[in-house]
Amino acid sequence: MRKTTDVVVVGAGIIGLSIAYQLARRSRLKILVLEKGKTPAEGSTGASSSILRRRYSFDEMVQLAGDGISCYRDWPEFTGLARPRAEYQGVGVLWMPGEDTAWADNEQLRLSSLGVATAVLDDAELTDRFPSLGTCLFAPDTVTGVTHACRGGGRHLLELDGGYIDPVAAVEDLLEACRRESVEVRFGVRVTTVLTNNQGVTGISTDDGDEVPAGWVVNAAGPWCNRLLAQMDMEFPWTLDPTRIQVLYVDRPVEVQLPIPVCVDFCSGIYFRPQNLGAQIVLGSTLLEDEQEVVADPDSFERNADTDFERARLHALHHRFPTWPYRGKVSSYCGLYTVNREDFHPLVGATTMPGFVVANGFSGHGFKLAPAVGSLIAQLITDISIGYDTRVPAGFLGVDRKPLALASKSVLA
Ligand SMILES: Cc1cc2nc3c(=O)[nH]c(=O)nc-3n(C[C@H](O)[C@H](O)[C@H](O)COP(=O)(O)OP(=O)(O)OC[C@H]3O[C@@H](n4cnc5c(N)ncnc54)[C@H](O)[C@@H]3O)c2cc1C
Repeated sequence: MRKTTDVVVVGAGIIGLSIAYQLARRSRLKILVLEKGKTPAEGSTGASSSILRRRYSFDEMVQLAGDGISCYRDWPEFTGLARPRAEYQGVGVLWMPGEDTAWADNEQLRLSSLGVATAVLDDAELTDRFPSLGTCLFAPDTVTGVTHACRGGGRHLLELDGGYIDPVAAVEDLLEACRRESVEVRFGVRVTTVLTNNQGVTGISTDDGDEVPAGWVVNAAGPWCNRLLAQMDMEFPWTLDPTRIQVLYVDRPVEVQLPIPVCVDFCSGIYFRPQNLGAQIVLGSTLLEDEQEVVADPDSFERNADTDFERARLHALHHRFPTWPYRGKVSSYCGLYTVNREDFHPLVGATTMPGFVVANGFSGHGFKLAPAVGSLIAQLITDISIGYDTRVPAGFLGVDRKPLALASKSVLA
């Protein structure tokens, strides 16, 4: 292992590699990324639905999401790769609020003032753009499955610039870009201890018995972050819970026409997006009740979805697509959110231990935010700003902030 290192980043998920790349783009610091897995994206990132949307409750989050999404939209330029594996899919993000017919117009006003391009659609306009989507305003009964007479008349909000990107391909691209910029990335190495003295961080030690001196250590360990946090002699008044999240993958039948946007269907409690150019649909939940299963050991949890979850969310999907027949292949996968129980927003920045920096607690937000989070931490460590940097104040997600006051305490915060 290298003798001198300026920054050790723990974890090669989308957050760790974004931080490493943003540091390397602007400095000649010696950066070492250590990843306990054999390949990138073995943690939350590999399971991510990787939806890129800007609608958030706080203006700073709208901006931060926009800054992250700009990097994904300009991915070849941002990564400097002529032929990246990942390609931004700008299919738009549709918000279906159900019976609240004032919501879309109010949100359009708010988001426009923050520079987010949107359109408010009535039922006819919705059908015109997305012919397979039903317009019903009412929640389906996902407990009994009893159907109702569907009724439209709603107002729907379309984020014109949102979409998704393949998460594993994006991480592989970042890995290549990091290595090109002389970042050392090592797999199969677990950081066991953050070394400190009375002045702050001095380095790390690893499970293969190595010690690496370093002035900065960044905790980008995703759902494993608590293992490093617990050993630090510092105040950290936040509860970060690794939480099991279920997702379904459903083959799209021929009866269901494209295009299909990313859709957040509030009234049915689901979100979905196309996958594999629309051959499949990724289907997840927006309900707080589906973000409650705290996992004691992030290395050991049930990877398949529960039968009840599958039945209820598929029923909601059928409600939203009236032509969807009751047949076809469904598979599932579970990954981990790291939920900040105090305010559902991440913690990004310096701690009271000099040299120890965190980027943890991303819940269902971390993928879209990653390039901007990398920018925040790179600016903190180097004090240098360059292109694609965010201007959101560093303290907004800081460890020493007060919990943010929220109306919606779920992934839709
Ligand atoms: C089902 C699901 C759907 C999601 N959907 C979206 C979405 O639509 N949009 C969005 O923006 N976000 C979404 N997210 C959230 C997003 O994917 C995560 O916030 C993001 O991937 C977190 O990245 P990370 O790098 O912090 O964590 P991870 O990807 O978990 O990476 C952490 C890495 O650190 C490594 N590690 C841990 N401890 C050590 C150690 N001691 N030494 C060395 N290595 C270590 C782990 O092996 C792991 O590879 C979703 C998440 C899930 C689970």
